[in-house]
Amino acid sequence: MIKFNIKDTFNKELPADPDRENKRRQVYHACYSFVEPRRPSSPQIVHVSKEMARTLGMTPDQVERDEFLEIFSGSKPIPGTQPYAMCYGGHQFGHWAGQLGDGRAINLCEVLEKGQRWTLQLKGAGATPYARSADGLAVLRSSIREHLCSEAMFHLGIPTTRSLSLILTGDDVLRDIMYNGNAEYEKGAVVCRTAPSFIRFGNFQIFFARKDEKTLKALTDYTIRHFYPHLEEGTVEGYLNFFKEVAERTLNLVVDWQRVGFVHGVMNTDNMSILGLTIDYGPYGWLEGYDHDWTPNTTDRESRRYRYGHQPGIALWNLAQLASALFPLIQQKEKLQEILDQFETTFYAKYLSMMWQKLGLMKHEKSDVNLISELENTLQITETDMTIFYRLLSDLRKEMTADQAISVLNQAFYTPEEVKGTVYEKWRKWLTYYLARLKREEISDEERKIKMNLVNPKYVLRNYIAQLAIDQADQGDYSLVDELYQLLQKPYEEQPDKEKWFARRPEWARHKVGCSMLSCSS
Ligand code: AMP
Ligand code: MG
Repeated sequence: MIKFNIKDTFNKELPADPDRENKRRQVYHACYSFVEPRRPSSPQIVHVSKEMARTLGMTPDQVERDEFLEIFSGSKPIPGTQPYAMCYGGHQFGHWAGQLGDGRAINLCEVLEKGQRWTLQLKGAGATPYARSADGLAVLRSSIREHLCSEAMFHLGIPTTRSLSLILTGDDVLRDIMYNGNAEYEKGAVVCRTAPSFIRFGNFQIFFARKDEKTLKALTDYTIRHFYPHLEEGTVEGYLNFFKEVAERTLNLVVDWQRVGFVHGVMNTDNMSILGLTIDYGPYGWLEGYDHDWTPNTTDRESRRYRYGHQPGIALWNLAQLASALFPLIQQKEKLQEILDQFETTFYAKYLSMMWQKLGLMKHEKSDVNLISELENTLQITETDMTIFYRLLSDLRKEMTADQAISVLNQAFYTPEEVKGTVYEKWRKWLTYYLARLKREEISDEERKIKMNLVNPKYVLRNYIAQLAIDQADQGDYSLVDELYQLLQKPYEEQPDKEKWFARRPEWARHKVGCSMLSCSS
């Protein structure tokens, strides 16, 4: 029998919605509503993260049993638990959207395993009181993307919610992928996501918007008690420090995203974790050609609010919304503003330090700021694959000429034949400068390569690769899902038999739905 050490706190310590009926509604003065997952008609496992299962204390043998399928598809309750959906609000694309909440996510329980708290949450297991006009379900394609990317992000060393399992429900789900009147039935799926907590900025915002200070305070104290236990609950000082730490974690997260070229796609305040985790993998994407204006999200095509280069600024904007939400508990505008002002300076310092690492520069020179901005400009004007570029950059040697360096990097250029004339000169100029800069470094070429390869991943979940796995899975073949899961467990390592995934995006994927174009439909 699968037995968890159940330590529910959220649904024990915080106020519940007294109405037990699962009907769509506004929920007041409560942090959550009790709900039961929907029973799928014929569940079938697509993939399990063995590593996550182990982390939760399950044996490989338990994962294989029917009981696992029953619990994580939503067919069978875990004894002694009371599943619930959380109430939250949020700013969507810059506008206050009122109550949102877990419309299709159901928290099964919290478990304690080796001193670590985990919330087990099913996504796609039916509508909740927060489902608004939607169906509470999720489709296979978006569930594969969430499952694989959560685990890939974790192995990149970037804070994230995790994913235990991906299960087909056997039920069809109607979706209009591009919102253009072409709705079709797709396979339904349920993912079991795990994280210490799924609390978002929006959980605090909803109580601020409703002037419900009592519940706001209860939630903030709860969050501090369980997730920031070194801080004091119930005091202004404690709340300020809490906000400061959330700001720091959020900042570190965005620096990490920029490092690996991850574009979240929907940085609404309801998709911002209070623990600084990457949360809600929707129309996210990875930069292939380096482009700070790129967003994978077609729903955001006009204003590009959530484009790559805008993510740090949006994180700050979102933090300002959180600051407003916490204001009733703090009542010190200047102190909150100070923390927000600090964000910009700290971000800049951390970004610089991250770029030094990417470039393998141990000594820090003042003029490196120009070196970095010149590089970013040059990457922007030549369509250059970000992942391949930085990975190959570690192959340069101090004694090379700029021309030799360009040929080392050739594989990163989308149209190598176009790296001619002024573009070629720009690269030659930058590389001449960079190679001269490397000569002023004491560490050897070999040492530098090792260090650079620890921060510049070789393998990321390229948009088109995820789509290949989705297309095969849709035909009932889940082998590529597992192959990618394995590949992305060691993103910084060379995997000679997997070189085919270290390749530029093929031309067929440039404008293909699912590869470079993704909507919020999931
Ligand atoms: P997202 O854009 O995925 O972050 O979702 C925004 C809000 O819509 C959240 O409150 C979700 O729970 C809700 N939502 C998204 N898709 C569905 C769905 N199919 N059924 C119910 N609620 C949904
Ligand atoms: Mg969301």
